[in-house]
Amino acid sequence: MSVIPALEADVLRRQDPEVADILLGELDRQSTTLQLIAAENFTSPAVLAALGSPLANKYAEGYPAARHHGGCEIVDAAERLAVERAKALFGAEHANVQSHSGSSAVLAAYAALLRPGDTVLALGLPYGGHLTHGSPANFSGRWFDFVGYGVDAETGLIDHDQVHTLARTHRPKAIVCGSIAYPRHIDYAFFRSVADDVGAYLIADAAHPIGLVAGGAAPSPVPHADVVCATTHKVLRGPRGGMILCGSELAERVDRAVFPFTQGGAQMHTIAAKAVAFAEAATPAFGAYAHQVVANARVLAAGLAGEGLSITTGGTDTHLITADPSPLGVDGRTARGRLAAAGMVLDCCALPHADVRGLRLGTAAVTTQGMGREEMERIAALFGKVLRGELDAARAREDVRELTARFPPYPG
Ligand SMILES: *Cc1c(COP(=O)(O)O)cnc(C)c1O
Repeated sequence: MSVIPALEADVLRRQDPEVADILLGELDRQSTTLQLIAAENFTSPAVLAALGSPLANKYAEGYPAARHHGGCEIVDAAERLAVERAKALFGAEHANVQSHSGSSAVLAAYAALLRPGDTVLALGLPYGGHLTHGSPANFSGRWFDFVGYGVDAETGLIDHDQVHTLARTHRPKAIVCGSIAYPRHIDYAFFRSVADDVGAYLIADAAHPIGLVAGGAAPSPVPHADVVCATTHKVLRGPRGGMILCGSELAERVDRAVFPFTQGGAQMHTIAAKAVAFAEAATPAFGAYAHQVVANARVLAAGLAGEGLSITTGGTDTHLITADPSPLGVDGRTARGRLAAAGMVLDCCALPHADVRGLRLGTAAVTTQGMGREEMERIAALFGKVLRGELDAARAREDVRELTARFPPYPG
């Protein structure tokens, strides 16, 4: 199966060579550079096939057997399958698979549980909170009264005492746990106990670790949180999109918060692709993948520390690493630029309790390509050489090309 079926049929190339060139150019970029952005991954050809399918044509507002449009019998089956597979995969009583993105899922969770003006306690943005956790530039910061907890200045770990104190002081209607940059497991049982102590809902925004949860490589928020929001396109390796898991008692509120409160028609091609990804994630092979992602991240973090970068929390439990390159004499932004020129693509991020920007990277995509310990050690060494200026971009780029050529994301 071709990765871009329409190109194989040559339809797009003949009708619209400009767009065809863009698709092939991006496939080439993804195949010849290292994708170290923590939130990215390579979906399977089967997921891509579902995304590029005629289900994209179908309007399906509402839920299976309760649609506002006719002709939904067949797409209903796709959504039922996705829901049943998500429930089984995560041991959840209810799953909503319609959220168009992780942010849409969080918006719907707030809509289900809160009213404008309610107080919400979440990880502060300087410590790895997402925009939807109270940024003034986002609906969350505009419509709710967010209080931010932080991480310990010494250890970089979530300050549990502060969470408890702030919860008792501010009596939030909801507590959010989850982050875009926290490299350690989150203690969901602890957050549950604080939420119970102050009568708050617990919302877990597990956009990043949900794929590790699916593969048994990270603890699950499902038994602890009232509502779990997630993406399907990060470590989970599905299509770009979101989902919500919750108990039966909140099912109707969550469903109504997604449609009709915050979204219109469901994207049935994406939902079919989510079903494919959930089935893939339920296999022993995916469990092995998830554990390898973490093993690779640990090796990479240790390697980067060996090159002199300072690793937040001293390491990782997950796919995600945040690092301060300033011991090598470069700030995060400069480092990201140099690494990009060398074909290593990653993000800058805020570093807790520091004025300088750091680097955020992850191992989900390179692990999908089949890379392991040896390659992680090699990538860490390349980082060191590029950041210290011992290897120019063109030479480093050759090394990266040699490496990626041996691990094509889409063989053939
Ligand atoms: C990625 C992420 C989101 C948002 O997902 P989008 O699909 O980009 O909207 C929300 N919360 C957290 C914690 C994330 O990591």
